[in-house]
Amino acid sequence: MTGNTLLMALDPGTTKGAAATERLDELTTLLRAKGHRVTTADSAVDATAVITARADLAAALISWELPGGSDGKGESGRPAEAVLRALMDRFSPKLPVFLVARDSGQDDLPLWIAEIVNGWIWLLEDTPGFVAGRVDTAARHYLEDMLPPFFRALRHFEDAHKYSWHTPAHAGGVAFLKSPVGRAFHDYYGERLFRTDLSSSVGELGSLFEHTGPIGDAERHAAKVFGADHTYFVLNGTSSGDRIVIQACVPQQAAVLVDRNCHKAINHGIILSGARPTYLRPVRNGYGLTGPIPPERLTAESIREQVAANPITDGGDAGEAGTMVYAGITNSTYDGLCYDAVRVAELLGTSVRNLHFDEAWFAYARFNPLYERRYGMAIDEQTMPTHAQRPTVFTNHSTHKLLAALSQSAMIHVRCSPDHEFDRHRFNETFMLHASTSPLYPLIASNDVAAGMMSGSGGRWLTTEAITEAVRFRQAIIRLGRRFQASGERPPWFFGAWQPPEVIDPKTKKPVPFDKARLELLVTTPSCWTLAPGASWHGFEKMEKDYCLLDPVKVSITCPGVDATGRVDKGFGIPAKIVTAYLGRRGIVVEKTDAYTFLVLFSMGITKGKWGTLLDALTDFKRAYDTGADLVDVLPDLVRAHPDRYGHLTLPALCAQMHQALAVSGFLTLLNEAFTKRIDQVMSPGEAYQLLITGRAGLVRLDELREDHVVVTQVTTYPPGIPVLMPGEKVGPASAPLRSYLSAMEAFDRKFPGFESETHGIHPDTDGTYRLTCAEK
Ligand SMILES: *Cc1c(COP(=O)(O)O)cnc(C)c1O
Repeated sequence: MTGNTLLMALDPGTTKGAAATERLDELTTLLRAKGHRVTTADSAVDATAVITARADLAAALISWELPGGSDGKGESGRPAEAVLRALMDRFSPKLPVFLVARDSGQDDLPLWIAEIVNGWIWLLEDTPGFVAGRVDTAARHYLEDMLPPFFRALRHFEDAHKYSWHTPAHAGGVAFLKSPVGRAFHDYYGERLFRTDLSSSVGELGSLFEHTGPIGDAERHAAKVFGADHTYFVLNGTSSGDRIVIQACVPQQAAVLVDRNCHKAINHGIILSGARPTYLRPVRNGYGLTGPIPPERLTAESIREQVAANPITDGGDAGEAGTMVYAGITNSTYDGLCYDAVRVAELLGTSVRNLHFDEAWFAYARFNPLYERRYGMAIDEQTMPTHAQRPTVFTNHSTHKLLAALSQSAMIHVRCSPDHEFDRHRFNETFMLHASTSPLYPLIASNDVAAGMMSGSGGRWLTTEAITEAVRFRQAIIRLGRRFQASGERPPWFFGAWQPPEVIDPKTKKPVPFDKARLELLVTTPSCWTLAPGASWHGFEKMEKDYCLLDPVKVSITCPGVDATGRVDKGFGIPAKIVTAYLGRRGIVVEKTDAYTFLVLFSMGITKGKWGTLLDALTDFKRAYDTGADLVDVLPDLVRAHPDRYGHLTLPALCAQMHQALAVSGFLTLLNEAFTKRIDQVMSPGEAYQLLITGRAGLVRLDELREDHVVVTQVTTYPPGIPVLMPGEKVGPASAPLRSYLSAMEAFDRKFPGFESETHGIHPDTDGTYRLTCAEK
């Protein structure tokens, strides 16, 4: 057993006197000898700090007479009660807790405490050896008990040190030791990784394909934790998970509904299944951020119209209610917008049998009441009583993305419907179609551990911490602006966060400026974060009250130049690309950069130091801008790479040039139009794919594209990172916004070397001209 911590929070009265001191010393020595770390605290404040900091706590000894400590104000009841409550919020109720008593006064013990404590300890009466034995045994049981099923079994298996005669041939790592290169690899990772890299022929650990043994137990445990009827561990990311769900639901050639704002894995599933998609279009705002698909585009009537208007579907495809086989929605969006998933199911349930939420970024939603109704597994008999058509719901989580797990760990969750059958054996055939027959057991363990971490009070505690830090940061960035304003001598602050400028306190019904709102109000009140219809801060049209919520942990930092309604400041602007290039130099890597916003994630790994450093770097950027710093000092690598282009410029001059090219010239308007205009579909993505792999397609230069050229691969530009063209779509007339947008982007790339747009499906020619893969004529 590696070290764990025992907390002893004792009041000075208990530890006073020679006899007590001696016994306490003896007890501590004995516990240390048994391999525990002993941490002491002499007040409730002190003890609570230890509880927050130490996830490795294995038992706690708390004096019932523990004093509060310096700021133990406002708490009712005994300080010891607050400590016990903190323990229960943070740890499982199985954590051994012993109350330490000075006298026999336990009549005032509240019942809930009597229920959770493992017993009393009288320091002067029980022998130290007896107490140490009890605490040690309880701690060991707890450390074993709290582990989720597969990880627990894997540890036991590894402890048994068996000889293996099966693959992998490195045989617990031994093969690596016979080569200098292999040896370096073995030393780097350590023995344990190799000892737990096992073959699926190890029967004791169960089967990923038959969902038996400890692996099956782990999937069933995860199902309980994430609120699913069935859970499948997927070891090749949501990339595989998406393809599995689509192939399991969609027969060849079927008509389906797909969020246009989807990950390419969804498109791959569509290709594999040969489906004929009708794309559901989300709304967009002035920043170019992608919003949700508005409810009016999800009604049965609207779906019928959209499907009927699609040239690659036929009349019968959306004819009867509930007959379409599949709809796929991205939830939350990359920018952190989450749907009222129950409302989406109510709307789409009349059109489709299977509703798939791609929640690759949203696995934590179930663990905080802030996200009530916002995730696929929230759709059940309570939220959606059976009188309405309830689709079978699939949810995909990339466990590795925003929970703690190794890359590629993912899960598929299924919520069965009373109206449509879900056949596990049938589904499993598709599951196996996409799985390797040699699963990596540490990945299975990491999925299991991710579920274990979120079970019980853990999920609430971890999500609350991330939300709280995000809200603190969001308030701090505004307060910083107020300080610049108050100082009077400096030019005004120009960064912000994309969020409502004020929120309504439900108690007082009065609006409060965002940065003045109580932390607790913002951390716990969903209505502070929902996109109210018509509110200008979000800039989206067609919103319905409570339909969409901005997730506080996904923070879009705004730069000056445009606003959410699309209004352009002609005189002043700072494109986000320049800011994030500067942050990159400072060792701060952001999640994504849009035109005038960039995204940072407040995941469970957040620390105050991390966001403090970001604010500090933004302040430094501003000073460089205000003082007209030379670009060579701000972005030296850029200037070194392109001295003729940038050597003579200052930071403000580059900002002005790029702002002119992006916003003032109307580029953003083009982008917006390119993504909202319907594009002609000529064939299904699967048919386009057939042309690609049989060599009936080739690269065509943007300046040579004819109106009837059809692309055979997906074309995605960043920002916004959603497909501008899907396979099988016509590029359309030269005058169309799509072509003007691509030309403007190409011109931007030529003009700003070092800031080239990230694109997928576009291959620049030697002279920089974009080329698209199109079907041969
Ligand atoms: C990342 C992502 C995927 C793919 O997930 P991986 O776990 O990286 O394979 C699918 N869908 C969405 C929406 C994603 O963001």
